[in-house]
Order: sequence, then structure tokens, then C-alpha cells
Amino acid sequence: MAIATINPTTGVTEQTFEAHTDAEVEDRIAQAQSAYETLRQTSFAQRAGWMRRAADLLEEEVERLGRLITLEMGRPLAGARAEVLKSAKGLRFYADHAEEFLAPEPLADPSVVGASAAGTRYAPIGIVLAVMPWNYPLWQVLRFAGPALMAGNAGLLKHASNVPQSAIYLDTLFERAGFPAGAFRTLLIPASRVEGVLRDGRVKAATLTGSEPAGRSLAAIAGSEVKHVVLELGGSDPFIVMPSADLERAATVAVTARNQNNGQSCIAAKRFIVHADVYDEFTRLFAEQVAALTVGDPFDEGTDVGPIATQSGRDELEEQVADAVAKGAHLLTGGTVPERDGWFYEPTVLEGVTPEMRLYLEEAFGPVAAVYRAASREDALRLANGTTFGLSSAVWTRDEEEREWFIDRLDAGAVFVNGMTASYPELPFGGVKDSGVGRELAAAGIREFCNLKTVWEG
Ligand code: NDP
Repeated sequence: MAIATINPTTGVTEQTFEAHTDAEVEDRIAQAQSAYETLRQTSFAQRAGWMRRAADLLEEEVERLGRLITLEMGRPLAGARAEVLKSAKGLRFYADHAEEFLAPEPLADPSVVGASAAGTRYAPIGIVLAVMPWNYPLWQVLRFAGPALMAGNAGLLKHASNVPQSAIYLDTLFERAGFPAGAFRTLLIPASRVEGVLRDGRVKAATLTGSEPAGRSLAAIAGSEVKHVVLELGGSDPFIVMPSADLERAATVAVTARNQNNGQSCIAAKRFIVHADVYDEFTRLFAEQVAALTVGDPFDEGTDVGPIATQSGRDELEEQVADAVAKGAHLLTGGTVPERDGWFYEPTVLEGVTPEMRLYLEEAFGPVAAVYRAASREDALRLANGTTFGLSSAVWTRDEEEREWFIDRLDAGAVFVNGMTASYPELPFGGVKDSGVGRELAAAGIREFCNLKTVWEG
């Protein structure tokens, strides 16, 4: 894939970029290594000051950055601005809490191990490589960079090829905020050159957010090098609606949970599993509101759903829906490509999706919802867990016992009750099964890329 900004609203190539040469990549790894040697000697307070300044810069530049996100990947502008501000909040969160999350943990009674003092400390590990996607071009990167730099590590970013201007902005953000030059560096390289960087001895670990094949490939290389990885891959999250739910609220939230960011979120609800007693009512409310969404230019403030970020992504979605319809699924709304430039797809609701159809097991990365009828809560659980993914899940019920029943049994990295899945700096984020390994955010996120050092003193 060319490294280029191609406006998904028009299909026009705005700007192309040359990939870094091998010598430029080498220079950037060397800069990151030298910055790490400096950074590891700095205090939490010093790093926190720089991190807060980086957050200030994001806030000061919110309008320009919001417009850049909308230009590069088509997110409606209000959401793009919100992403910038959320990223700033995430950086401040780690500025405020890193020291507490990484505080030494002394053993209460060191005599049991024959020591005068013993316990653990968290130490930085060095350069961490981040391979990142285009769907939240700032947030996905900064939720990694904030904790990594606060821990005293350096970061190298290989961003998705279709968001190079976001990548270039991030290349200088931390340096402008005061961090040692090179503490965070972008590598403008294609996916095929990730392997060489990951095998470099100075690069100690990697994190990837993106598709399952990309995650598997990175993890295999890291495994052969005995390097730690965090993977945040796809999801096909269930959104379960039980008879005691507030149906109006559930339907309204379902529309946002599926269609926000043009439906291109790993934690979007994708499979709506509805108890038979409320199926007709919920499905009617849901499909009516999806049909009322405004599809259009993401720079227009009235637009709810903009284009799919890439032509191949739109084609994939079209093929998944065509396959389902050909095999007997029923369209409640949408299912068409609007007559206009750019890579738009009508928000779509389907029912009658069966295991023979691609949509049953694959992730739909766009505004396409499948509604399933469940005969009982056991049936709802079977459908919810009947996927290779396990990122997050949502369940709508006002029954206390049922709430606990689902929380215990859903095979997912998170369960949201009577709400939609979202990421918060305060809560860990990540999946089970093919959705990934490890956790981002909260205390767990900053500890992933640390050396948990055991100290024993005689
Ligand atoms: P990819 O997984 O291909 O891209 C994500 C990042 O990984 C990009 O930086 C990409 O670089 C890089 N990459 C791709 N293949 C490799 C590889 N073999 N080794 C190392 N790095 C690699 O996602 P796509 O953009 O192609 O989207 C495809 C699907 O992935 C979506 O339909 C969706 O299902 C899923 N996805 C999930 C996301 C999530 O948030 N979990 C985010 C984005 C996509 P480059 O751009 O240069 O190819």
C-alpha cells in the first residue's frame, strides 16, 4: 500500500510520501535508543511535566488535528475533535498516575525469604515498537505512547499507510513538549519492513492494534526473538438485549454502538442478540433509527456517518452483505452503496444471518449490524460466545441475578451492563481468544512494558 493521504470522502489522493530509507530507519532507531538512555534517568515528575505539555499541545491544536483525522480517514468532525481531546485526557491520566502505578512493592515481612528487605520495582525496558491502525489515528497511538514514555521507555511508531500526516504530527509531538529528541519517533515504512525493525536488538517489545493476520505475523516474529507483545485485534462484540431491558434506551445506544466512527471500531457492537419476547419491538426501534442516520460529508456538522476509510474496506463490507443476502439473510434497512464519490456505505441492519454466511463469523468493519433472535438466556449466551473473537460485550437487563449470570459467563475482555463498550484511561482494555493478548490502559497498560524487577537484600 502506498504511504499516502487519500481522502475517503472524494477518493482523491491528497499527498504521497516516500518511505524512509534503511539509513533513515537506522538513524531513528539510534535516536530512540539514545533518548531512552536519557529518559530512564529522569524522574516521574519531570516526565509528567513534559506529558502535560504534550496534552496542552493537543488541546491547542484540536481544530487542525480534528480536520486532519477527518481528511485522512473520514470520521465525522465532531468525533474527530473528541478523539483529540480524549487523547489529551489520556496523557494527563498517565502524567498523574504513572508513579503510583509503578511504585515499588516491598514484601511486608522480608524475613520469610531470609532478607532484610525484599520486593519488586518496575523498571523501563527500552524501545517499544508500536504498529498502529488508522481507525483512531491519534487515540490508538497515544494510549500506548502515554504510559510507555511515563514508564521511561522510548517508542517507535509504524502507523497505517493511509494516515501518514497523523504519523508525522506524532513524530514531533513529544519532542515539542520537552521530551528528549527521539523519545518517540515515526518510521514511514510499509508493513513488509516491520520485521526488520522488530528483529533489531535495540527494540525490546512490540504492540499492535489491527487485524488478526497482522497480529499473528507480528507475534510470530516476536516469539522467535523472545520479545513481549501486546495485541489488540478485531472483535465481533455481542450486544444482548433481555426482556427486562429498557428497550428504547437499548435501541438508541445500539445505534451509536454500531455506527460511531462510521462503524469502524474494534469494540463496536456488531451482533445484536435479542430475546424472542422483545425481538420484534427492539428490532423495529433499532432499524428505524439506523435508517434515519444522516450519511454524508464528514466535514458537515450534521453528518452521522461518513465514508469507509479505504476502498478495499468498503468493497469487503459490500461483499460480506451480498454473501449474506444471497444465502437468505433479510435486509431491514441499507445494504446499498450510495451513488456518490468516495467510499460510502449505507448503514445496514440484517436479520436471518446463519453460520454459512461470512458475516456470522467475520468482523464487519463498517456500519453493518446483524440481529439474532435468542430463545432463552442460554441461547443468547451460546450465540454471544459462538465466535473466535472475545474483545468486549454488552448486556441489557434490569434483572440483578441475570446481570451476574452474564458477567460470569461471557467470554470477553470486558462486559458492559446497560451501556455500550467504550475505552477509558481508568479501565484496562483488551481481549481474549483471537481478539488479542495483554492489556492497554489503567495500571495494567503501563506495567505491560516494564521489567518487574525482584529485589532481595541480605
Ligand atoms: P491491518 O491490520 O492490515 O493494519 C493495521 C496496522 O498493521 C497498519 O499499520 C498496517 O500497516 C500494519 N500491518 C499490516 N499487516 C502487517 C504485517 N503482516 N506485519 C506488520 N504490520 C502489519 O488492518 P487494515 O487496515 O488492513 O484493516 C483490515 C481489518 O483489520 C479491518 O477490516 C478490521 O477487521 C481490522 N482492524 C481492526 C482494528 C482494531 O481497532 N482492532 C483497526 C484496524 C483494522 P499498513 O497500513 O502499511 O498495511
